[in-house]
Order: sequence, then C-alpha cells, then structure tokens
Amino acid sequence: MRLTETMATTKSADLPHLRSVVLAGHSGAGKTTLAEALLFRTGAISRLGRVEDGTSSLDTEPEAQKRHISLSLAVASLDDDGNVVTLVDTPGYPDFVAEVVAGFQAADAVLVCMDATGGVEAGTETAVALGRTTRTAALFVVNKCDRENAEPAAVLDALRAEFGNKIAPLQLAIGKAETFSGYVDLVHRTAYRWDGRQEVEVPIPPEMEAEVAARRDQLLEAASEADDDVLSKYLEGEEITDAELDACLHRGVRDSLLAPVLVASATKGIGLRGLLDAIVRYLPAPSEEPPVVAHDPKTNDPIEVSRDPNGPLLVRVFKTTADPFVGRLTYLRVLSGTLRSQAHLFNAEKGEEERIGQLLRLHGKDSEPVAELRPGEVGAVAKLTATATGDTLSSKDRPLVLDRPVYPDPTLVVAIEPQTKADLDKMGPALTRMLEEEPCARVERSATGEQLLISMGETHVAVIGERLKRKFGSSIVTHTPRIPYHETIRGRTKVEGKYKKQTGGHGMFGHVWIEIEPNPGDGVAFAEHVVGGTVPKNFFPGVEKGIRQAAVEGVLAGYPLIDFKATLYDGSFHTVDSNDLSFQIAASMALKKGVMDCKPVLQEPIMAVEIRVPERFMGDVNRDLNGHRGRVLGMDVMGDGIQVIAAQVPQAELFSYATELRSITGGRGTFSSTLDHYEDVPAHIGDKVIEAHRKEQESSAH
Ligand code: GDP
Repeated sequence: MRLTETMATTKSADLPHLRSVVLAGHSGAGKTTLAEALLFRTGAISRLGRVEDGTSSLDTEPEAQKRHISLSLAVASLDDDGNVVTLVDTPGYPDFVAEVVAGFQAADAVLVCMDATGGVEAGTETAVALGRTTRTAALFVVNKCDRENAEPAAVLDALRAEFGNKIAPLQLAIGKAETFSGYVDLVHRTAYRWDGRQEVEVPIPPEMEAEVAARRDQLLEAASEADDDVLSKYLEGEEITDAELDACLHRGVRDSLLAPVLVASATKGIGLRGLLDAIVRYLPAPSEEPPVVAHDPKTNDPIEVSRDPNGPLLVRVFKTTADPFVGRLTYLRVLSGTLRSQAHLFNAEKGEEERIGQLLRLHGKDSEPVAELRPGEVGAVAKLTATATGDTLSSKDRPLVLDRPVYPDPTLVVAIEPQTKADLDKMGPALTRMLEEEPCARVERSATGEQLLISMGETHVAVIGERLKRKFGSSIVTHTPRIPYHETIRGRTKVEGKYKKQTGGHGMFGHVWIEIEPNPGDGVAFAEHVVGGTVPKNFFPGVEKGIRQAAVEGVLAGYPLIDFKATLYDGSFHTVDSNDLSFQIAASMALKKGVMDCKPVLQEPIMAVEIRVPERFMGDVNRDLNGHRGRVLGMDVMGDGIQVIAAQVPQAELFSYATELRSITGGRGTFSSTLDHYEDVPAHIGDKVIEAHRKEQESSAH
C-alpha cells in the first residue's frame, strides 16, 4: 500500500470543489476503462492501463486480472483544475453487487455506465435501483460509442422508455461506431470534435440541427419538470439562459429529479472533457448535500448532522479488507467533522473505542498518508480492532449511529471442506478473516454437519476460494451439500431382538419384543408395556437407549429415523448375563429389523420460496420451477412491474437455483427460502439416494 510512481498525489480541496462519484452499471460497459481514462487524462496516473492486459491501476487483484473483470470496488481521485473528483469504480458482475452497495456509501453521486451497443441491461437496472433507494444524484454515460453497431440515440430512447422523462439528454453523439468523433452539448448548443489529442469546439454539424432541436426540447421538458421557474418560462415560450438551465440542471440532479445522459468512448478518450465538466457542474458538492440523519445510540432519536468540517465527527465504514501482512484495512468516508490521523474514535454500537493510526488516501491499490479527511472525503486506516463494514464511528462525547446499508441475501449454497488434512486447522480462522470482507457471504453448519458457504454465485465461490489460498494459504474444495433427509415409517409391526454371547466367564444376554408404529409429527417416542416382569425395569433405560441410538442413523440410507413409536412389551432375561448393554444391543437390532417391515420412506425438506422477477419472466420462471419439482402456490404484483411468486420447492433443487434464476432472468430475479416441512421423496429419487448410501458403506467397509 505505498504510492507508486504512476500515481500522482491529490491535493485536498475546499468542500465546494469536491465531488465523489461511484461508477456502476452492467459488467463490461466500460466502468473501469472510463475511470482509468479520466485518471490518465487529468494526470492522476501517468500510465494508461488496460483491463484486457490486467494492467489497470484499479483492478489490481490477481483474481480480477485473470478474469478481466473488477471484483471489488476501487477508489482513486483526480484533480481537474482545482476540483477534486473521487471515483469509486465497482464491479458489474452480479456476484459482487455487495461492492456496488458499498460504493454507493462512499459517494454523493452515481455515474451509470452503459454500452452504446446494448441498452438497459440488468446491471443498469441494479445501479438505478440502488440510486433510487439511496436517493443518489445520477448521471448516465453511454460509453463505447465508437464500437461497431453502436446506437447511442437508441440507448437514450431505451433509457427514457424505461425510466421516463426525467432522463434528460445532455449531449448528442456526432457520428457513431467508426465515425464517432465528438458530441453536441445541448445546454450550451456547442459542439466538440476529437482532434486526436483533445476535444476542440466546432460548429454544430448542420445535418444534426433538427435532432439537436428535438433533443433539446426533451432536455427542457425534463428541466422544467424539476423547476417551477423554468417550467413557467418554458410554457410561456420565453428564452431560458444557459446559466439558468445549468443552475436548474444542477439542482435537479442534486435532488434526483432528473438524470442527464452523456456520450463517450473511454478507449478513444472522446467525451472525457464533457464528462468531467458535467461531473463538476451538475453533481453535488458535499457542502450542499442535505444533512445526514444519524441516531442517538441510547434513545434511537434521529439527529440531523450537516456536512460541516467543524461539526461532530461522523464517519461511515463502507468496506473492510483482510490482508495477512497489512492486517485489516478499513475504508471509511467522513460525513461530518474533520478526521485526523491518530484520533480517538468511538464505535457506539459496539461500545468500543478505536484509535485511528495513520490516515490514508486511496489511489487504486496504492495509498498515500494524509493528515486529515474532511466531509465528503474517502480514505482508509489499518488495524482497527472492533469495527466492521457497515459500522459508524463518531466521538465518545457525541456518539452517533447511521442506518446500515441493505445488502442482498446470498442464496447459492455449497459445502466446503479443506483440500487436505493439513488445511484443516487453517480453514476456520482463514474463513473468519476472509468473510470480514464479504457482506454477502456467510458460513453455517448444516443439519448434516457439513460446513456450508452461502454466497452470491459460482464466481463468488471461486473467488473466495482463490483469495483464501492466496492470502491465508488455506485450500478448500467445494461440493453439493448433502440433503438432510429424514426416514420414517408408514406401517406397523412386532419384532423380536435377541443378543446372546457366551465367552467363557461372564456372557451377554438381552431379549426384547417391540412393537413399532408411526407417530406422525411427534418425533421418537418410547413406551413399555411389560407384563409379569419378563424384562425387569432396570433394563428399560437400556432398551430405550438402544432404540434411540439406532434411530439416529436410520435404516434406509443413514439418515435420522423420526416420527415413530416403539413399545417394549415382552422379552426375557438371564440372571447372570443380562446387563444394560445387552438390552441396548438387542433393542437396536430389533428396531433395525422391524423398521424394514414398516414401509420405511425417505423424506426430504421442502422449502417455502419467494421469487421476485420482472413480469416478463414469469412464464419462464414458472416452467423452470416445474422442472425442479416445485409447486407454485400464488403470484402477487409488487409494483414497478415486479411479480412475487410463492412456491414450495424441495431443498435438493435449490442449492444452485441462484445460478439458474440468474440465467433465466439475466440477473434480474432474486429469491429467498425457508424450511417449510418434510415430504416423502419420490421413489425414483429415493432409490438413488439409498443406492448411493449402500455404495458408500461398501466402499468404507473395504
Ligand atoms: P466494466 O466491467 O464496466 O468495468 O468494463 P471494462 O472497463 O472492464 O471494459 C470492458 C471491455 O470493454 C474492455 O475490453 C474494454 O477495453 C472495452 N471498452 C471499454 N470502454 C470502451 C469503449 O469506449 N469503446 C470500446 N470499443 N471498447 C471499450
């Protein structure tokens, strides 16, 4: 974490000259390339890296470089003529959406990056939805305008169709695909063409005039919906000055009433000037953000805190990384007050004091020591002890707590094991440290005793595994979890169990008759009905123990046998050889034998599932559920075109449902599940489970 020579230091600026922007959007739209290009253009980095070559200054992890995608957020700042812009690049791949949620915590605005050859993609929707729930100011940039088949105007129309009139065209592309060469600024009615080194002002191409007029109307319409003064002027047909329009756009963007759309080619560098201007001109500075609402940790009363460098300290922790060498690195953003290196802070929720060491400003993977961070600024600090992602830090005499961000629930379940016995001891502690980084992954112990890793998707699992190995030297393997089947019976029987052993001296003798019958929903019950002392009372506990022990491993496939009643009603004993253990063994033999005559069945857990998908995917999702032995119980409209499907699905079909739902819905569907009840496994599946158990037993016997 030292500053390399490719990164320039960034000066601090007054609050009105600070901007912070999270780049979000679909995977591959060009976020990292765009951030890299902006840093390079403004001299914040001296070498332009490329995602394809793994040389981007923002994707620095080997796991990211290998895949050519961002896996975690990266922070870097640039200085554009005295305005300091902090960029927070985030992954577009849905497995890593936690990083996008965190990125929104670190910025005042979002730049939604889109692909000019695509349209409104799942990643666009995720970014817009997050922007809405966090009320974050938004700009859209239609990137890749230079690419073959680029249709920037069509993307603009798609955005307006999806999100309405508040989507305001700010620039129009001049040319497209190989002819993309610049843009028209619709506010100032100027045009800029790329001359190979920079954007130079040129007259608006005459053939574009009609289009410019029509799109400017859309811009004015959006602006007037956000501002009454502009509205009345617009309706009266009065001239609206550029300065008025700029001011109106700034207010409208700040208050999330409108969202301008720009065009660019990150790889060619076209549009960067206009984008930087729009960031500085239209996005809010921390000084004009509304007060943050924090809470008093004791009374839970809301407390408004303004972004004042002299106000009470209020710091949000938005990310934590675990590093075996550096230790824990905590990423934080100051919302109020001035945070200084070596300060003492208070984590009010945990009741712990934290001493801040050296504050760092982030430049991708590198960092530079700074003396202080002010409202709106983002930085990091090493070696905090108690503080985790989502926590709030404040001062002890003015404790404050912020609401936690809402992370999506992970739903992909795999079982994990250490790769070798040597990895056994490392795995637990390594996982604990690793998962500090991961708000959307957790481990739990399953009913069958396996260690489960629950995460956002298959790539997430793979990346967690690779990071565990690289950072902590712990290798894991994954497999499909065992299903916690149950066994039970449908019939009844009377069965004899006799255990007799004569080995010279003291022998063993236990003899029981047991009646076995179903006990639906009531677990394992034991009763005795012995007449005339054929089995003396003091052996009853041994009989019960033998039955309960045999039930633990079942008879069909090694799963717990439940919901049956065993009644001891007869037997015999030997005055010398009978003992507790003999009766345990006799009872357990009786149960195992008897159950086979009681129509034993295998039961599986059935989950209550709630699936949320845009309406257009309903048919496909329902068909797919059928294929997973699912039963749809009902459907409900949730608003915003989202349908909620309530269904019951066997757990065996759900472990990898996260992956399937994503492929059906292009990443737009989510689901949650809880255990509902147990049901008989269909015979053809049950037979396979029993057969697999038989084989396993055979191979372990050899
Ligand atoms: P991200 O997933 O949104 O961060 O996208 P990346 O920045 O990783 O870019 C994905 C791919 O698109 C890379 O191969 C980039 O070189 C390419 N790319 C990014 N921006 C542009 C652009 O403006 N034009 C063209 N033609 N390709 C681009």
